[in-house]
Amino acid sequence: MSHSQLDTPVTALPGVGARQRPRFERLGLSTLRDLLFHLPRRYEDTRDVVPVCQLTPGAVQTTRARVSGVRMHRSPRRGMVLVEAVLEDSTGSVGAVWFNQPFLTKQLYNGMDLILSGPVKVSRTGLQLQNPKFERHRGEQQHVGTFAAVYRETEGLTSRYLRSLIESVLPAANMVPDVLPPAVRASEGLIPIAQALRDIHNPSSPDVAIRARERIAFEELFLLQLAAQRARRRRLGSSGVVIPYDVKVARHFAESLPFKLTDGQRVAGHQILADMAGSGAMNRLLQGDVGSGKTAVAALVALMTHAAGHQTTFMAPTEILARQHHATLDSLLTPLGLTPRLLVGSTSARARREVLNGLAGGHDTLVVGTHALLEDDVVLADLGLVIVDEQHRFGVAQRQRLRQKAEQMPNFLAMTATPIPRSLALTLYGDVNISELRELPPGRTPVVTRVVPAAERQGAYDFVRRQVGEGRQVFVICPLIEESDKLGVKSATAEFERLRSDIFPDLRLDLLHGRLPAREKDERMRRFATGETDILVATSVVEVGVDVPNASVMLIEAAERFGLAQLHQFRGRVGRGAHKSHCLLFDSGEDDGSIQRLSAVAATESGFDLAELDLRLRGPGDVVGLRQHGLPEMHAADLLDVAMGRRARTAAEGWLDADPNLQGYPPLEAAMDAYRAVFDLD
Ligand code: ADP
Ligand code: MG
Repeated sequence: MSHSQLDTPVTALPGVGARQRPRFERLGLSTLRDLLFHLPRRYEDTRDVVPVCQLTPGAVQTTRARVSGVRMHRSPRRGMVLVEAVLEDSTGSVGAVWFNQPFLTKQLYNGMDLILSGPVKVSRTGLQLQNPKFERHRGEQQHVGTFAAVYRETEGLTSRYLRSLIESVLPAANMVPDVLPPAVRASEGLIPIAQALRDIHNPSSPDVAIRARERIAFEELFLLQLAAQRARRRRLGSSGVVIPYDVKVARHFAESLPFKLTDGQRVAGHQILADMAGSGAMNRLLQGDVGSGKTAVAALVALMTHAAGHQTTFMAPTEILARQHHATLDSLLTPLGLTPRLLVGSTSARARREVLNGLAGGHDTLVVGTHALLEDDVVLADLGLVIVDEQHRFGVAQRQRLRQKAEQMPNFLAMTATPIPRSLALTLYGDVNISELRELPPGRTPVVTRVVPAAERQGAYDFVRRQVGEGRQVFVICPLIEESDKLGVKSATAEFERLRSDIFPDLRLDLLHGRLPAREKDERMRRFATGETDILVATSVVEVGVDVPNASVMLIEAAERFGLAQLHQFRGRVGRGAHKSHCLLFDSGEDDGSIQRLSAVAATESGFDLAELDLRLRGPGDVVGLRQHGLPEMHAADLLDVAMGRRARTAAEGWLDADPNLQGYPPLEAAMDAYRAVFDLD
């Protein structure tokens, strides 16, 4: 196969040693292909080379000059090592200084012909370039005096190094299959992929770089749209299960509730019911903050499905969550004659058999559960609705298995408390409709959120102690499991030990992280939920869903390491009961902007607003975790670029009109594999 060269490990490349592997891994680079698709973040334009006499204090400039004297000395202030050089061209001379880079004395020698670029300052001795980047003048510059790529870097892998390495592998760009059909390429005026890769790494001008990026971005969005639109056509063309919208049922449900539905709940309920009553199966996402009442909406739609004589499965990512949903649905629906069943890993063989019989026989119409619902012997007589909570926590194949338990395509409702901004969701999913609960039911007291200065740590611990004294419980969240990080960021394991032995030796502490076996995790979570533990030290595993109304403090270490939306999720773990609740954010003080970001969390109550802010601050890739959603990584595409999204969609629709089964251009069909599962293309 011609592809195999692209799979060459980076460590097998000439000049790259096994020792480098961890560095490449830190950048997510393991193969030659990864290297080709490690696209520049930006470029450094130092093409404007001026003679020495035109250097101007205060500007950042580039000049070509000869070295005529190098010396090293220690600065009287702070003992810094200074390397100084004199540089000359035919128009004059200028100094250069580099701080704390003693090795430069071995690289610089008299007569060397350099191109240098950096800020021009006035020193005691005249004009001086400060810490200039430089490269020998070779006529064909790679780093300085040219338009050079700047990459995402890590210690030991600088842009300078990556430039040379990537240039050395660029011939392999010819091996990358061009998945854009030539007809699409022609009508969109796009260059071939190999040229795009060469140009984006080594462009001769900014325009060339822009064209190259556009080409790669278009391909990514085209594939995404092609997959989404194909799924949409199949869904709408299939005869999905139709659930008639019986207004009496909805009214009866609303009247039976111990509370009044919020406007958001009524609108969302109506959208879902209207969608299920229409032809073609529903595919809808219900987004709403923790506690916004999604489960109540789910109860309504399950009841309607039941009234229509069809079954509903409701799948949650953990046993605790499944039990929680089951309890809520039980309290809302059993009085109305719909008793939900529960099917989880720990369900006894006998109870399980009973549930399976009820489902296969069709007399049970609502089952809540975990992955246990996916087992082959779970047979549903007449599945009409699949609800999946926090679907990104499931493998794509698992969701599909659930849907395939029906003869006709069932309606599908995903629920999430991690809202994705609408603009992004539409590009990302193409084939999904969205309902949102933007308000919380009345009567909730917002969680008081505070960014705690390091000096007030002891005060925060005193506060925690008082809360526990009043019978409350506390979460402590740390970004890592173990102290693997040089930066000294707190790890859950070390923090657990420290809190247990030094700070709260008299309290009951427990530790929760993702490396524990699932049963152990569930058990520790259960102990906390039942009040057997006072303080739960955890990693982000507690992010979603868990309801412990007695917990009133969420303390987060190195909070700047989390996304804003994620912090909001953590915060949602408290404030679920009658007790006034607090979220305390500690920042490890490594990054200047972090206090500001954290203050935004303190000042904002809406998960939707924070998701949007997150998106602006960090870009879409990070926020939604494309990988987490089962999508291939986007290297060039900006998911918020609405214009290009539309263009890609039109092109995808056009292609599908002519080639509905994607058999007209084999490379395209092959490229669809990466999207197949996410969009249920099979
Ligand atoms: P979510 O699933 O969005 O996290 P839930 O549906 O579990 O939220 O609701 C959280 C809590 O709020 C539950 O105890 C539920 O009974 C209650 N609740 C739901 N809707 C309302 C409402 N409209 N008014 C008052 N309480 C509500
Ligand atoms: Mg819920």
